[in-house]
Amino acid sequence: MTSRKLHIGTNLKMYKTIQETVSYLTDLERLTGDLADDLCLFVIPSYTALPAASAAVDRTRISLGAQNMHWEERGQFTGEISPLMLQELELQMVEIGHSERRHSFRETDIEENKKVISAINHGFIALLCVGETGDDKELDIGDERLRQQLKVGLHGLGEADCGRLWVAYEPVWAIGVNGIPARSDYADVKHRLIRETLLQLFPHQGHNVPILYGGSVNPDNACDLICQPAIDGLFVGRSAWEASRFDALIRQVLPVWRQKLAKGLLG
Ligand code: PEP
Repeated sequence: MTSRKLHIGTNLKMYKTIQETVSYLTDLERLTGDLADDLCLFVIPSYTALPAASAAVDRTRISLGAQNMHWEERGQFTGEISPLMLQELELQMVEIGHSERRHSFRETDIEENKKVISAINHGFIALLCVGETGDDKELDIGDERLRQQLKVGLHGLGEADCGRLWVAYEPVWAIGVNGIPARSDYADVKHRLIRETLLQLFPHQGHNVPILYGGSVNPDNACDLICQPAIDGLFVGRSAWEASRFDALIRQVLPVWRQKLAKGLLG
């Protein structure tokens, strides 16, 4: 059974300066300060904002992560950031394989796999993003794509690594300004497929890996999504980038999550 906490967070992409990140986090921490500890709230700022972000928030309330990471500790990798550098910031997680990394920067499943292994070995939670493209969906190969991203991306991990693994299902066609939000029942079916694949890979611990949905989550669809049995959390973009809007979204979703738990409806 997956964690009883609602996992909800955001990736700030390349949108906020250091100052903007600190003020966003300070507001978010203040606004969400009364929320109970069945919430696992996380924010993933830009690299340059990480030291200030790390100093600004109580990381027992808001976990912080990096948007990417090279798998090597050091070397001839101009422009890259290593796990040792991120360890200095005491971050909790590293996001790996966001669709923009895969599609704009041509990262492969094999590279995501090296990053996942390195992140976990360096004590981070690896948040692996997977998702089919619009073409995959049209061609009806979305499920194969998801299985491949998981089987290659998680190759070589053992049961014991599941405690440091989260998966975000982010259909590429649902992400960003031109994205069409996935229907909640469609997302639930894909989450079940992800869970089945995790259980094939990790028969004992695969049920403990949280699976989050991301892609145009907004106040109109967030509750429907979180009601679905196989959805353990939400990975939110645009609807989370103002602290007050994100706080409102969390408050909308949290009671629905609690009701789902109370009814024993977890997938
Ligand atoms: C994302 O880019 O991962 C994302 C979920 O963004 P949005 O919610 O804005 O579609």
